Amino acid sequence: MGKALPADKPARSSYDVVIVGGAMYGSSVSWFLADNPDFDGSILVVERDPSYELCSTTHTNSCMRQQFSREINVRISQFGADFVKNLRRYMGDDPRVPNLPIQSFGYLYLADNEEFAAVLRESQKIQVACGAGTKHMSAEEIRRDYPFFYLDDIVAANHNLVDEGYFDGGTLFDWWRKSGREKGVEYIGNEVVAMSLNAAGTRVERVTLKSGEVVDCGTVVNASGPRAVLTSRMIGVELPVEPRKRYTFIFDAEQPLDRDLPLTIDPSGVHLRSDGTYYLAGCPPDVDPAVDYDDFEADHDLWMNKVWPVLAMRVPQFEAIRLVNSWVGHYAYNTLDQNAILGPHTKVENFIFVNGFSGHGLQQSPALGRGTAEWIIYGEYRTLDLTPFHCERIERNEPFNEKAII
Ligand SMILES: Cc1cc2nc3c(=O)[nH]c(=O)nc-3n(C[C@H](O)[C@H](O)[C@H](O)COP(=O)(O)OP(=O)(O)OC[C@H]3O[C@@H](n4cnc5c(N)ncnc54)[C@H](O)[C@@H]3O)c2cc1C
Repeated sequence: MGKALPADKPARSSYDVVIVGGAMYGSSVSWFLADNPDFDGSILVVERDPSYELCSTTHTNSCMRQQFSREINVRISQFGADFVKNLRRYMGDDPRVPNLPIQSFGYLYLADNEEFAAVLRESQKIQVACGAGTKHMSAEEIRRDYPFFYLDDIVAANHNLVDEGYFDGGTLFDWWRKSGREKGVEYIGNEVVAMSLNAAGTRVERVTLKSGEVVDCGTVVNASGPRAVLTSRMIGVELPVEPRKRYTFIFDAEQPLDRDLPLTIDPSGVHLRSDGTYYLAGCPPDVDPAVDYDDFEADHDLWMNKVWPVLAMRVPQFEAIRLVNSWVGHYAYNTLDQNAILGPHTKVENFIFVNGFSGHGLQQSPALGRGTAEWIIYGEYRTLDLTPFHCERIERNEPFNEKAII
């Protein structure tokens, strides 16, 4: 038996894969690598804040939807739903592992104009062609199913009650880390501060840790969330990813609704949904700049001046509500197209992106973690083709056009 090492030092001086960031994506990618019988390499996950106090993953609203306007995003969520519902099976029928139900109250996209209603109709066709249960509804049909809404300004909506709603992303995250560690993934509390490239500038050869150690690496994965650009700058690459604040409010209603409140996307930009015995609302700020990486300051006026008036208008029963909790989280906001950035850098071929998820990264973590592991092991995708998310589109300034962005 060797001497026990301090937690923040890597056990070895060389790893096949070094992952920068150990939250949802660092854990998803490392788990899918370690779980794959075709991979027998070593994996180091470096996490600068093992308390996970400020990362996106612990500030999420933890919902999943099938309602995207691009087929690949629908397919990604379909695998996400299958994975969480059958987590135990995916984890080798381990009896300790729970299956995670999806509380399928659905997302309800409200349209207050014909132009957006046409977008919803088009998206519904794409989703249904992929097997999703999305229904395009008139205001009258919404009123029939959810009589508590004020709908005089609404012309149509899309709603889907299958595999769409809340899931326990925190438990999924816990199991990826626990099971990954048991399969040999090494997590350390440390920070990657620099990388050195080979003479041709085509490969990362080593990463430097804040504590001074230098570790050789076969592949580097950038799973550093809103700090993605700080990590990519270590190889001299700019990424269109910024930390942007998103606000979440939990409230209690004096007169609770008699049924689940779907995750309703109001035309104002506020979204609201059931949250156990409480309700949840969220929104971006009216002015939405990049913020400092450590800026989590609340904006109390937002609740009073924006969110609460929208809630009281859209659901008149919410005239009497009480705020019970609130928090500010950071999206890793992809300014080009608010979608995932995946795959290798075009020049530094062993530097892999898993970045820029904006508001839908949690639900995509099973499919994109699996795909990234495939890319690392096989040099190609074996299940879903994720090449539309590769960074070439950034270099060409060609957005991946997904209309359903929250
Ligand atoms: C308010 C809010 C609501 C959301 N709601 C949803 C939702 O309903 N559904 C959904 O699918 N998605 C949602 N998301 C998005 C989702 O939570 C994120 O896309 C996902 O959690 C991103 O995970 P990540 O691992 O990429 O990033 P993070 O969770 O931010 O993790 C990155 C990690 O990297 C570490 N790190 C950074 N730099 C270094 C370094 N140099 N060295 C070592 N470690 C480093 C950080 O400490 C951090 O722990 C929401 C996000 C927010 C903020």
